[in-house]
Amino acid sequence: MNILVINCGSSSLKFQLIDAETEKLSAKGLCERIGIEGSKITYSPAGGEKEETLAPMANHTDAIRLVLNALTNEKTGVVKSLDEIGAVGHRIVHGGEKFAQSTLINEEVMAAITECNDLAPLHNPANLIGINACRELMPDTPMAAVFDTAFHQTMPEKAYMYGLPYEYYEKYRIRRYGFHGTSHSYVSRRAAEVLGKKYEDLKIIVCHLGNGASVSAVMGGKCVDTSMGLTPLEGLIMGTRSGDIDPAIMEFIAHKENKSIDEVMAVLNKKSGVLGLSDNLSSDFRDLEAGYRAGNPRAVNAMETFAYRVAKYIGAYTAAMNGVDLICFTAGVGENSAFTRSMICRYLGYLGVELDEEANGRRGEEIAISTPESRTVVMVIPTNEELAIARETYRLLQ
Ligand code: AMP
Repeated sequence: MNILVINCGSSSLKFQLIDAETEKLSAKGLCERIGIEGSKITYSPAGGEKEETLAPMANHTDAIRLVLNALTNEKTGVVKSLDEIGAVGHRIVHGGEKFAQSTLINEEVMAAITECNDLAPLHNPANLIGINACRELMPDTPMAAVFDTAFHQTMPEKAYMYGLPYEYYEKYRIRRYGFHGTSHSYVSRRAAEVLGKKYEDLKIIVCHLGNGASVSAVMGGKCVDTSMGLTPLEGLIMGTRSGDIDPAIMEFIAHKENKSIDEVMAVLNKKSGVLGLSDNLSSDFRDLEAGYRAGNPRAVNAMETFAYRVAKYIGAYTAAMNGVDLICFTAGVGENSAFTRSMICRYLGYLGVELDEEANGRRGEEIAISTPESRTVVMVIPTNEELAIARETYRLLQ
């Protein structure tokens, strides 16, 4: 069965068509600048050439229509008709406390996702628009919602509560939720498989280090803590997000810079992280690494501060689980930057971590990068959120 995986943002839409039985990718692509002038669709059939086409997309329904046309077109399409698409899996950012699992979409589910809009005002409405657009064009095709927050719903209360008045939890469900759950679940499970160990027997820390970054602690196959909170702003220092800060800084900046709360939030989300720390050098670790090697003190500081924060979270989660067997790196930085991994692992001597520099230098593999003597195993596991969404969608249909 072919499953179309959709990840819909406010003005962009990523898609992949995956054969659920063979788990092979048939095609993938991206619609950009939806509803804005200059919209473009990029389409890559597996084994074929990447095509970029400028095409007007007034809304997400137009974008999905172009995606379906690309997938079924006579020349470079990968299916003959829409009948060959068995289901659609949608990535949904926030499922609140309502969704601890993926689910097939019906009216009740749509209403429950809508109720979570307040918790993720930038993401959930866009995800819902994507679902509605697909339902309009493929009314008889089953659709599944796979939530970024679901995997973390197993966190115990002591891990998810903030030290705030309890009434805010009761009234608004203010608590820690965590994100990147599909990735943390996929990577932790896959690492156990590659290692040939039983998932449920392991204490695993997953470091999902991309432009957005988070760490999770997975014990007995369940998430027991994660670094992102009510929103994806908490936790690690990220590409452009601040991660953990003293909340009083918000008031301080607002007064000193005469900014509104929305403006301060924009600074914390878009102008902070390694971008802000490096004095606007870059949010991209390739640039920062080059700056570090060239001795640029701002790049050095940004990378050192980033690595130190990751190492502190690893320490915290080792304490939370009373030990750790396996540490996994994934996502753009975690998979590609041997330099960053090595900086982080330098803090982990107390866990008996010994890096195998040759293995750490390899790219694109599922691989242990610690030596056989290392007391704690360290691995790189490339994440594959789209495959995980396709698997979940397929599972729900069985
Ligand atoms: P993601 O959000 O998982 O797509 O990760 C994107 C980030 O990965 C980029 O912003 C870069 O900082 C980082 N990245 C990608 N490739 C490399 C590389 N070869 N070396 C270092 N960082 C990389």
